[in-house]
Amino acid sequence: MSAPARERRRPTPVALSDREALRRAIYLVSLLLAIPIFVGVGRIEWDDPATRYPYLAIVAWLLPAGATLWARPGSLRAVERGTALFMAGTWIARTGVAMFTQPVAMDAVDALAPSITLGTVMVMLLLHFTFPTRHATFAILAFLAVTSSLGALRFAPEPAGLASVEFVRHQFFLLVLTGFLYVLSTEQQARARAEAERERLRAEAYRDALTGLPNRRYLDETLETAVADARRTGEPLSVVVFDLDRFKRLNDTYGHDVGDAALVRVATAVRPLVRERDVVGRFGGEEFLIVVPHADHTVAATVAERCREAIARVQLDPGGPVTASFGVASLRDGDEGSDLVRRADARLYRAKRAGRNRVDAEALDDPTPA
Ligand code: GH3
Ligand code: MG
Ligand code: MG
Repeated sequence: MSAPARERRRPTPVALSDREALRRAIYLVSLLLAIPIFVGVGRIEWDDPATRYPYLAIVAWLLPAGATLWARPGSLRAVERGTALFMAGTWIARTGVAMFTQPVAMDAVDALAPSITLGTVMVMLLLHFTFPTRHATFAILAFLAVTSSLGALRFAPEPAGLASVEFVRHQFFLLVLTGFLYVLSTEQQARARAEAERERLRAEAYRDALTGLPNRRYLDETLETAVADARRTGEPLSVVVFDLDRFKRLNDTYGHDVGDAALVRVATAVRPLVRERDVVGRFGGEEFLIVVPHADHTVAATVAERCREAIARVQLDPGGPVTASFGVASLRDGDEGSDLVRRADARLYRAKRAGRNRVDAEALDDPTPA
């Protein structure tokens, strides 16, 4: 279909599959790079159970997860989500172990900073990356509920002590961050939705609702661009105008629905016959326009002839055969797009007068019409 010609000119957004492939590559490389860090930190802090067990668990998760990701790229989403939940679970365990293995209350709070706190923030982000905003937020709130309960148990002996206050502050910061992330994420989602909607409306504004072909507005803009390009490059530019023959009679005899069906069938027949950079659209009523860049009248006449034959093969039931008449014109010095269309139109009416179902191309016979 020719409407995406407009989209082709704009930078196309990276397709989701490309982005997913990139994420997968990042994970796999990060995993490789993380191995020495893990081994190093693990060796140094092996005596600390708050490090040892989570690290063992993480290795036990990440190795098979990485292998799965490597062997089956399609598992990306599942691996991401699984890893986010696993990390959340691990960080709950780390938080609990860190607090309960410190006999002094204040040390128990201090044990959270900075790696457990930062890790918690990372888990929160990871959940947002891998789950929809609401689910991520629920998961984070559940996470905070569990760690807060652990803290309540740990600091219950001194409910008004400094350690309790510090812990409450710690959790409170995380709760505020949860709110920020929620707002940020919903705003971004709303922006993405609005952008998608704008894009849809834009595409809609350039499409003819009945045939799905580019509409008059799109054709006008395309033609303007094509004329400017042709002037700059000195390449030829042609347009083909065609109009269905005796269409009023078809409508009057069989009704508007049959007329509409004819327009759709004609659009379907013609669309695959033009090259990528050509644009065929509905100019109005039962008149169509093909913009044929880099083509002189001979080439454009060939395109027109091909379309004429394809349309003549359309058989409506009821309604019978459909035909169309074609006019072809090529750009001359000083032409605007409208001059080009006007001359093609003049040729079209010559084709009508000569008996319809034919192509009349400018410059095949010389005198300038109209
Ligand atoms: P000619 O061979 O000289 O082109 O004859 P014609 O009957 O096709 O020409 P005319 O301009 O007299 O009639 C065009 C008709 O196309 C008039 C109008 O009712 C019909 N028409 C225009 N747009 C539509 C449409 O969207 N759907 C349908 N069903 N008919 C349409
Ligand atoms: Mg007509
Ligand atoms: Mg007409």
